[in-house]
Amino acid sequence: MTTEAPAQKQEFQAEVSQLLDIVINSLYTDKEIFIRELVSNASDASEKLRHLQLTEKDVFQSDAELTITIEADKEAKTLTFVDRGLGMTREELQENLGTIAHSGSKAFAKALKESEESKESALIGQFGVGFYSAFMVADKVEVHTRSWRPDAEGLVWSSDGKTGYEIAPAEGDLDRGSRIVLHLREEEEEFADDFRIKNILKNYSSFVSFPIHVGEEHVNTVEAIWRKQKSDISDEQYEEFYKFIGKAFDAPRYRMHFSADAPLEINALLYVPTENTELFGMGQMEAGVSLYCKNVLIDDKPEGLLPEWLRFLRGVIDSADIPLNISRESMQDSSLVRKLNRVVTKRFLKFLDGEAKNDTEKYGEFYSKFSRFLKEGIVVDYEHREGLAKLLRVESSMVEDGQTTSFAEYLDRAKDGQEKIYYLTGPDRAAIESGPYLEAFQSRGLEVLFFTDPMDEYLLQNLNEFDGKGFVSAASSEVELDDESAPEAEGEALAEEKQTSLCDFLKNAYGDAVEKVFVGKRLVSSPVAVLSADDGMTPQMRQMMKAMNPEESLPAAKVELEINPRHAIIHQLSAAQESNPELAQLVSAQLLDQALLSAGLLEDRTALLKRGYDLMEAALGKTEG
Ligand code: ADP
Repeated sequence: MTTEAPAQKQEFQAEVSQLLDIVINSLYTDKEIFIRELVSNASDASEKLRHLQLTEKDVFQSDAELTITIEADKEAKTLTFVDRGLGMTREELQENLGTIAHSGSKAFAKALKESEESKESALIGQFGVGFYSAFMVADKVEVHTRSWRPDAEGLVWSSDGKTGYEIAPAEGDLDRGSRIVLHLREEEEEFADDFRIKNILKNYSSFVSFPIHVGEEHVNTVEAIWRKQKSDISDEQYEEFYKFIGKAFDAPRYRMHFSADAPLEINALLYVPTENTELFGMGQMEAGVSLYCKNVLIDDKPEGLLPEWLRFLRGVIDSADIPLNISRESMQDSSLVRKLNRVVTKRFLKFLDGEAKNDTEKYGEFYSKFSRFLKEGIVVDYEHREGLAKLLRVESSMVEDGQTTSFAEYLDRAKDGQEKIYYLTGPDRAAIESGPYLEAFQSRGLEVLFFTDPMDEYLLQNLNEFDGKGFVSAASSEVELDDESAPEAEGEALAEEKQTSLCDFLKNAYGDAVEKVFVGKRLVSSPVAVLSADDGMTPQMRQMMKAMNPEESLPAAKVELEINPRHAIIHQLSAAQESNPELAQLVSAQLLDQALLSAGLLEDRTALLKRGYDLMEAALGKTEG
């Protein structure tokens, strides 16, 4: 109509082209999902408009009823989606329908980069590609739209999904909202059929909180499933709702549906997804629990509604006590929201605790994917630390390889009078078991927990106790093991004066590298072990700090060396002190380096390796001679 603003041809962002190429060419079987995607967009646009009505005074055609209409035209071979939502301006069209700016497609594009071609079509099924899915069935799509802003212009965006898109001024006046016209490809004409559309929308449409019309027919009754009785909801409905609210394509792993009247009136329906997409390297998940007040959406991504470490949850929290017109800004410091946060979080932790007990295997699968969130919670969220600690599972010296234990189970097994929870950290179970620290605990029947996730270091810095019992590293010099339950010692101990003399000799040889050399009762089959005398800084923590800050040199680790007076090497070393002082020096140095190595504290291996050869030479020389 206007000549001064002609149609502009514009190119898609490279990622969009790539995505469209796959959408169009893949043999994706579940094409009908585009209907849900477009209805979901229409519903979002309507929700946003409803919210704007509360916060803005000038909304174009403010009184228009928020409905969603789908029109199928068999003859024209078109399918049209009409909503009276917030519409789009030119800038918004470019940003939303020309780039990949939104979550679903962003995740998809990212996964695409990391995948092999053969898996591309499977990926679409996992993420959904939002608006762009229209091109699965259409060879041309038009978006006629007018924004809610009073001075906005009517626009038509159009594209064949290949060569870019055009934005032109609309002919005549447009109503507020969007009208999306799909020109169906020949082989997809079957979609231009009311009956087919109604069938596809059957379960889904009942969650959309606006009337949906297919042709002349009103097809849905709006249901707030979270406000219904559990017994009135089928598993299928629960799953459908998860897909609707979470824009998800998988099935939920867990769901928690609860209502409360005090201290707040709450209806909540929360889901744990199957996958933790953060493990795919897709960056932080976005919070996905929407806040409603008596069925009306207040905010679909409210900050502070739940703790950040619960960002993997999807679902709805509805509270009649939240004022409808609460703003995003005031939400965060609203004491009501904080209360809501606390009640729901506690409830969810209790829920997980119950699930963990009811079905260990299922919980184990959840844990293997989502434990990082629980650990993050322990580190950052003091208030829920205790509840979260109950949910942790770790390997231990008393459970089989591959199995885990809770801290509560650990304490149940602990002997009377055991005041501490012993643990070791390391890269994996085998590494911990091959170290020298475990044997003293095992022979005394004391259980040791194995922490093997790199994040456990941070965890242990923040997890001081469980049920009143402190956590102590089994490699720490703090640990005092009693003599009574010491194992039946095998072999004869080195005579007392020889012990003293050997300790002096060793301390002398090591100088400042070792704080103290002493005879102890902790070792069974190892000759020596290094004990960490640093407060709270485990060897793994040191390594991490060094990796993060390679330039900065950490002060040397403070260590003590315990020797095992019954071990053959110790006997022989004691003898060599006199008979072959040179060899004794060599062996002493090697003993310390090997002990440091197994504690993860050896900084430089070159000396250890070189000395190994020297020792071989010495040993072989003896047989030769
Ligand atoms: P998503 O819905 O995951 O954000 P889409 O590709 O479906 O991704 O849509 C991209 C963006 O385009 C939306 O975030 C929204 O801003 C805008 N949009 C899509 N459909 C509509 C519509 N019917 N009305 C207004 N805006 C829309």
